[in-house]
Amino acid sequence: MEAIVKILDIKQVTHDVKQFRVEKPKGYHFIPGQATDVSINLPEWKDKKNPFTFTGLNDDPFLQFTIKGYPDHHGVTEQLHKLKPGDEIIVRDVWGAIEYQGPGVFLAGGAGVTPFLAIFRELHREHKAHRNTLYFSNKTIADIIEHQELLDILGVRANFIITNEKPATGYFHGRIDKKFLQDQLTEFHQPFYVCGPDEMVKELTDTLAALGATPESVVFEK
Ligand SMILES: Cc1cc2nc3c(=O)[nH]c(=O)nc-3n(C[C@H](O)[C@H](O)[C@H](O)COP(=O)(O)OP(=O)(O)OC[C@H]3O[C@@H](n4cnc5c(N)ncnc54)[C@H](O)[C@@H]3O)c2cc1C
Repeated sequence: MEAIVKILDIKQVTHDVKQFRVEKPKGYHFIPGQATDVSINLPEWKDKKNPFTFTGLNDDPFLQFTIKGYPDHHGVTEQLHKLKPGDEIIVRDVWGAIEYQGPGVFLAGGAGVTPFLAIFRELHREHKAHRNTLYFSNKTIADIIEHQELLDILGVRANFIITNEKPATGYFHGRIDKKFLQDQLTEFHQPFYVCGPDEMVKELTDTLAALGATPESVVFEK
């Protein structure tokens, strides 16, 4: 299916991430962690399909997307960030990206947190989020998407790792590697979820396999 939907409002959530609320087609249904192929409804863009995750709740009367812009790619996200309320996008069938398999450890890089955001928001509504742990890696503190909300939902189980900025109190510094995981975790026979750039997902999938875990994973950027 394909549905043309209007943008209702747009919120800047970090310096390079915008949250779009758009109309929800009748009968449209998704589960947290799922995505759809989105296009901009303009003649030169409507056939270019890029996947984005639903970050709102299925029960919401609108859809929400949380999208990082890459102006240097001169592609879809640059154009999406130029849109205004009233402009139209195209959404299609929903498809599975990451599915919640029970309480576990979530490892995210940058915009790779979006499927986890959807999962945490749904769990929070059901008062079940507290048994999950997040390690969320970003270049700088200013890059952290929904920083306060993640702290509100997960409390001390929301961990932030910063790679390209001077160490700050309350944040880990450096990369999520085998040593980091071994220092942080004792149990590897629990669900692991990994989402982020290609290199991070590959590296963490291998590291987790060596530690005895089989993560659910999605590659966000090549
Ligand atoms: C299942 C799934 C769900 C996703 N959900 C989200 C989400 O909720 N939010 C979110 O922000 N992202 C999400 N992503 C990632 C998102 O789809 C991509 O970041 C986005 O499509 C990239 O668009 P673009 O602006 O680079 O445009 P495109 O039109 O895809 O690319 C434009 C040009 O940039 C080039 N390019 C690509 N990568 C680079 C690079 N690293 N450096 C230079 N040029 C490059 C391409 O070759 C192309 O020519 C998801 C990805 C997947 C697989």
